[in-house]
Amino acid sequence: MFTLENSNTLYAVIGDPVAHSVSPAMQNAAFTAANLSERYGKYHVKPDELPEFVEFARKNLKGFNATVPHKAALIALLDEIAPAALAANSVNTVINRNGKLYGDSTDGYGLETALFEAFKLKIANSKIVMLGAGGAAQATAFEFVERKAARLTIVNRTRSKAEALAEHLAGKATLLSALGNDEKSLIEAAVAEADVVIQATSAGLRAGDAPPVELELLKNAKAIFDMIYHPTEVQLFARANDIPCADGRGMLLHQGARSFELWTGLTADVKAMRQALDQALDNK
Ligand code: NDP
Repeated sequence: MFTLENSNTLYAVIGDPVAHSVSPAMQNAAFTAANLSERYGKYHVKPDELPEFVEFARKNLKGFNATVPHKAALIALLDEIAPAALAANSVNTVINRNGKLYGDSTDGYGLETALFEAFKLKIANSKIVMLGAGGAAQATAFEFVERKAARLTIVNRTRSKAEALAEHLAGKATLLSALGNDEKSLIEAAVAEADVVIQATSAGLRAGDAPPVELELLKNAKAIFDMIYHPTEVQLFARANDIPCADGRGMLLHQGARSFELWTGLTADVKAMRQALDQALDNK
């Protein structure tokens, strides 16, 4: 049974787990900067509680964000899904329009904006290597195809998942290929040719995790974007080898800013959100 945290908390993030989420700090900074009285909270929602939460949200919330493991499961429970979210099989933002729940995905926009901010990279005609084929890769790889990347190489520990993702995305201008993370010479060649390597696996989330591919295979990378927010082996390797590198903060920031804009119709104060995000993450 879900109840409102208080009468102003009309937005929230849901996940399982969710305690670690810094989205409330970041979103509340945006609401405050826009002089809005609404607040943004968090709900721990287990997979079997998702239908119940959706009905609670329909009656009580103006919108919510979803994180692991709900992004794909939400699609079947909402009234309308944006075409891009449907294609990415991922919803991270739900907007309540008079009791009708509309699902969208802002992760691809967040990554695209963060890549431009970090490396001035424009996706059109670029060559991209993506490490990982899980939820985060699926939610964002679609953006590369939509924005007409020249080439996308998906590298994953379980090769069949990289193949399935490449197959799902096929049919547009982007040249797609799939590799296992042990196909060393092919990975090395794809990395050397790429404008950016995106680290979208969860390897590195816990201290002491082995990297998702042998680090030496990344030595000729032109830039590395790691979706993880804290320092990982991949980020340390990039810095030690003078490879331009960014962590996942920019992506988190910009997906959140776009969610705020979808809910309120206002321009998000990205500076205030970034400051709150950095503070929340640095205090962890
Ligand atoms: P999933 O569990 O859906 O997928 C995990 C992926 O990591 C799979 O491709 C998996 O490979 C791979 N993987 C896991 N462990 C290893 C390992 N030891 N070696 C090699 N590959 C491994 O997770 P998500 O896709 O949801 O999340 C991935 C990462 O992205 C997380 O770190 C998350 O924090 C981050 N993220 C960041 C966001 C941001 O805004 N910056 C937004 C969303 C996610 P396999 O298929 O073989 O199991």
